[in-house]
Amino acid sequence: MSEREPFFSEEHEMFRAMVRQFVEREMAPHADAWEENEDFPSELFKKAGEQGLLGLNYEEEFGGANLDYWYTTIYVEELVRSRCAGANMALMVQSDMATPIIADLGSKEQKEEFLAPAIRGEKIAALGVSEPNAGSDVASIRTYAKKDGDDFVINGSKTFITNGTRCDFVTLICKTDPEAGHGGISVILLPSDTKGFSVGRKLKKLGNKASDTAELHFEDCRVPQRYLVGQEGMGFYYLMQNFQGERLVAALAACAGAQLCIEDAIRYGNERSAFGRPIIKFQTWRHQFAQLLTEVEAARRLAYFAVDLFDRKVECVREVSMAKLFCCELTNKVIDRCLQFHGGWGYMDEYVVSRAWRDARLLTLGGGTSEVMREIVSKLSEL
Ligand SMILES: Cc1cc2nc3c(=O)[nH]c(=O)nc-3n(C[C@H](O)[C@H](O)[C@H](O)COP(=O)(O)OP(=O)(O)OC[C@H]3O[C@@H](n4cnc5c(N)ncnc54)[C@H](O)[C@@H]3O)c2cc1C
Repeated sequence: MSEREPFFSEEHEMFRAMVRQFVEREMAPHADAWEENEDFPSELFKKAGEQGLLGLNYEEEFGGANLDYWYTTIYVEELVRSRCAGANMALMVQSDMATPIIADLGSKEQKEEFLAPAIRGEKIAALGVSEPNAGSDVASIRTYAKKDGDDFVINGSKTFITNGTRCDFVTLICKTDPEAGHGGISVILLPSDTKGFSVGRKLKKLGNKASDTAELHFEDCRVPQRYLVGQEGMGFYYLMQNFQGERLVAALAACAGAQLCIEDAIRYGNERSAFGRPIIKFQTWRHQFAQLLTEVEAARRLAYFAVDLFDRKVECVREVSMAKLFCCELTNKVIDRCLQFHGGWGYMDEYVVSRAWRDARLLTLGGGTSEVMREIVSKLSEL
C-alpha cells in the first residue's frame, strides 16, 4: 500500500501500468480518427478481452479474474487517457453495465453462452433499458415478453442503446406482466440473430461520437425461457442493483476525466502567453485551478468512499448516488472552465478540450440523470 493511497497495493499499481500501456498503444493513437469516423473497430473488444479487462470482477470459471473493485477503479481511470469517451463507454457497457446481472444471477448455462464470450471480447453486449417513452421511469417500459410454450415472444422497442448496432446479444429489460408495475419486469438475454430483431436508426449525437447509439426493434422475437436471468418479476430490483456499478463507473470516469483536462490545461497555460507572461501565471487562473483541483480531489474521495463500501458489499445506494451526482455535475463545470482557459482555441477541434466538453455532457444524463440521483438521495435521507 502506498502511504498516500491506502486502497492501492503494488499489484494494483502494476495493473495500472499495464492498462495505461494498453490504452496508449491500442486506443489513444486512434482517438481522433474514431471520433471523426463516428466508429471504432469491434476488434477493440477482443483486444481488451485478451488483456483480461472485460471480466475483472467475474468468476475465474468463466474467464474472469475475480479481483476487487479497486481494479475496476483503475481500469476506468486509465481508460480516460484514450481521450475517446465513445470507445471507453462501449467497453464499459460490455464490462460493467450489460454483464454484471449475468455474472450475479445467471445460470451456469447462461454464463457459458453469454458471459464467458463477453469476457473474452468475442461477443459484444448491450444493455436494453431505455425506450422511446420511458427512461428515468423504468417501471413504465412497454417492451413485452409473453410466455408461449417453452419460449418468450418479445415485442417492443428500445432507444439510446450503446453498442446497439454491433451487439451479439442484449441484456433486455422487459415486462413479463404488463399489469404488475415494478413487479412485472424481468431480465431476458436476447441474441441479436433472433428472428424479428432489427436495428433502427443509429442516432446522431452531441458527443461520444465513436460509440454507436441505436434504436432496437423486437417483432415477435422468440427466445427460450431458459434465457430468463434470475427470477421472473424481479428485473426492476436486479436493475437497480446493477445501476450501482454503472453509476460508480460514471463517477470515477468523471473525476479522472476532469483531472486529465486540468493537467492538459495547465500545460497549455504554461505555453500560451498574453501580456508578456504565461497565462497560467495570472493569479485569477492560478486560483481557479487551485479551486478546481481541490474540488476534483474532494469528488474523487467521495467516489472512493462509495467504491470502498461497494467493494466490501456494504449497502451504499445513497453514497453511490451522491458520487454519481456530485462527480458528474462537477466535471461539466471543470471542463467548461478548462475550455474557457483555452480562449478561442478551446472552441476548435485542434484541442481535445472541445471534445471533452461535448463528451462530458452525457455524464449527468446517462445511467440515471442528476435529478434522479437527487430523488434517490432525498428518499434515502428521509427528506
Ligand atoms: C449517449 C447515450 C447512451 C445511452 N446508452 C444507453 C444504453 O446503453 N442502454 C440504455 O438502456 N439506455 C441508454 N441511454 C439512456 C439513458 O440512460 C437515459 O437517457 C436516461 O436514463 C434518461 O432517460 P430519458 O432520456 O428517457 O429522460 P426522461 O426520463 O424522459 O427525463 C427527462 C427529464 O426529466 C427529468 N426527470 C425524470 N424523472 C424525474 C423526477 N422524478 N424528478 C425530477 N426530474 C425528473 C430528467 O432528469 C430529465 O431532465 C443512453 C443515453 C445516451 C444519451
